[in-house]
Amino acid sequence: MSTGRSEFVYELQVCRWAELAWPPDGPAAAPRLVARQLGTKRRRWDTVVVEVDPEKLAARQQFGDRELDSDLLHIVRHAPVDWAFYRDALPHPGYPWRYVRESIHRADDRGLIRTRRDGNRIQIRRIAPYPDWVDRLIAIENKPDLDASAARQLADQLQHDVDTALADEVWVATAKTGRRVEPALLESLPVEAGILTTEFDGGVDADAAAVEWYPTRLSAAASDDSNGDEDRHSRRLELAERAYGRGWRNYERTMRPDCRFFELRRSGRALLPWCAAKKCHQSSTVCGSSCDDFQPEPPAWRTRGWPIEGGPGKGIKALLTDRAKRENRLGSD
Ligand code: SF4
Repeated sequence: MSTGRSEFVYELQVCRWAELAWPPDGPAAAPRLVARQLGTKRRRWDTVVVEVDPEKLAARQQFGDRELDSDLLHIVRHAPVDWAFYRDALPHPGYPWRYVRESIHRADDRGLIRTRRDGNRIQIRRIAPYPDWVDRLIAIENKPDLDASAARQLADQLQHDVDTALADEVWVATAKTGRRVEPALLESLPVEAGILTTEFDGGVDADAAAVEWYPTRLSAAASDDSNGDEDRHSRRLELAERAYGRGWRNYERTMRPDCRFFELRRSGRALLPWCAAKKCHQSSTVCGSSCDDFQPEPPAWRTRGWPIEGGPGKGIKALLTDRAKRENRLGSD
């Protein structure tokens, strides 16, 4: 079975491999969360690995399964132990307080803080300290076919990553070709970026990738001014929160698991989307509302107990959600 070299499918393979085997050079797998397509306004990474402190991650779970956006993070990170007027308790957010008040109501609705009124004033109190659960943030660019032009295109993006040092390490993952990666290609990329070569044709397993070039740890080069440090810390937490809330299996939200041809097929220890009409691992671009081959899942499938609970694509969605939850508890199947 060919898994093709679509960048989308390759991205899913790299994500699953990272879940099984990160870090590539470590004697034991580090506790980690894996997500895809996360980033900032300026830069989006294909795969993000968040290495975590397991005890602190367990403490983070007191704040629920959903991600905390930057506004909610500002509140839960600074909410006081004892009741206090929110403007006294929180640092000035850099935007009007009325928006903070709205976020306080959202936080209260989600049970992230406690609130009460003292006349016109809203007082807040934390439910628990928000833990500093992120150890390291790793960015991986996925280029299954790393030719000279792909390497040139990547070079500027990677240099930006090196300069901002938002991630602790940046890597490029590329498919093994039977030859060593051309030295000329390596020379186009910043020396700080690591190179991984992958071999997924036999399926995704823990030993399906090898280090071609080790990266330089970037955090040491980060700003030593405290405002810069706090800004970097906040942005890393925002990214980690998105990884926590979304993981990498949320492609069912943009693809069509409610199509009768949508399947999940095993490839080693990964499950990959498969289109029974096109007879290939379809990309997320193809498998959307404009697909000419789309046919709704027959109603009979929904009433005979499969997919689980019935309804369009529910079995596939439930399976992916279950896998994501299991991984977020840092287990591995
Ligand atoms: S036929 Fe189209 S919509 Fe249906 S699974 Fe295949 S690619 Fe997706």
